[in-house]
Amino acid sequence: MRSLVHIDEIMQILKTTIDTSNMPLVSRKNWEEINKTPFTVLISCLLSLRTKDLVTEQASLRLFKRYHTPHEIDMATEEELRQLIYPVGFYKVKAKRIKEISKTLIDTYNGQVPNDFHELLLLKGVGRKTANIVMRYGFKNDNYLPIDTHCHRIPNRIGWISTKTPTETEFALKKILSKKYWLDFNHLFVLFGQQICTPISPHCTTCPISVFCEKKNVMNHR
Ligand code: SF4
Repeated sequence: MRSLVHIDEIMQILKTTIDTSNMPLVSRKNWEEINKTPFTVLISCLLSLRTKDLVTEQASLRLFKRYHTPHEIDMATEEELRQLIYPVGFYKVKAKRIKEISKTLIDTYNGQVPNDFHELLLLKGVGRKTANIVMRYGFKNDNYLPIDTHCHRIPNRIGWISTKTPTETEFALKKILSKKYWLDFNHLFVLFGQQICTPISPHCTTCPISVFCEKKNVMNHR
């Protein structure tokens, strides 16, 4: 396993070479057009599952311009919600899900998103990634490190870790990655995974951090 001795250089290189103009909505400091709250972060994250970032962003903006609290979404009809979030993947299921979650928040948490990782996991459809994102970007708690498929795949290719699942990666990285990198890690590695270290045939010949990478389990590359 390669040490993280070059982490400073890698983070600096990624910050200066990755195109951050399309940063995922939840990672942005300000959502210029809508109110960023733990609830809107949670709902936007649920909308993003199996959906492209741009589609999620536009659906979130349409939804939150009209409804942005659990009470407001609870009052809306499923049909209205479907129309607002279309064409996110599984929009019918998601319309139903965000209504259910809003109702649970009203009935169980006084209309608030619980500021507790384990309580978040009890909400229907909320897994570790979503719960970590809500804690990190909704509640601005820096003890959480959201790991998606890119954040799992790339540190394994570089050789920092050797893990089988995003959950294993979350625990492994939290042990070896200094906390000062956690805030930037998620969005930089997501964008890097979309632009260069792609799941199939990564762009290794033009990769700006190739010299630091073991390319573990990379069979084909460009
Ligand atoms: S060299 Fe290839 S495998 Fe390694 S980080 Fe760059 S694109 Fe990914």
